[in-house]
Amino acid sequence: MFRLLFRPNYTIDTIYHLDPNKLKEMGIKAVFSDLDNTLLAWNIKDSSEEMAKFNQKLAQAGIELIVISNNNEQRVGQALDPFKIKFWAKARKPLPIGINHALKHYHLKQDQVLMVGDQLITDMQAGNLAGVKTVLVKPLVETDKWNTRINRFFEKIIFFFLNLKKKVVFKESLEWMKN
Ligand SMILES: [Mg+2]
Repeated sequence: MFRLLFRPNYTIDTIYHLDPNKLKEMGIKAVFSDLDNTLLAWNIKDSSEEMAKFNQKLAQAGIELIVISNNNEQRVGQALDPFKIKFWAKARKPLPIGINHALKHYHLKQDQVLMVGDQLITDMQAGNLAGVKTVLVKPLVETDKWNTRINRFFEKIIFFFLNLKKKVVFKESLEWMKN
């Protein structure tokens, strides 16, 4: 149970290396993504250009980018509205509530969606509970906000218990997590 909760299905070094054509082959219709440290570096104000380009690249392949964030609408909207990127705010990760709502709202099936994030405890757990495919990425910046630092502490313990240290390798392409 513990394993299934936190374990990502895939790993990749950064969300920006996801290949829209490959996702299409996998039958993916939407990429659900965490915001802080997955799409945007939380401490850098203008890291949004790459995000906008990535959104366009996905859109050209017919894939939607939908941000799943625990932040409120105002904060998330501020970052995403200028680029017309869709989002689901107050998602309450690690609970699957936000993801489930977004699935329903956008008429998506579980197997058509990747949940991408940089944290096992929030992003991977929420994605796994919602039954979508999960992708762990390396945090965009090494430092974290204080509340994330607490999660990271527990994450280290989970990494140890799941014996993930050797298994999680972040490459430039989507890697299936071996057992
Ligand atoms: Mg994050």
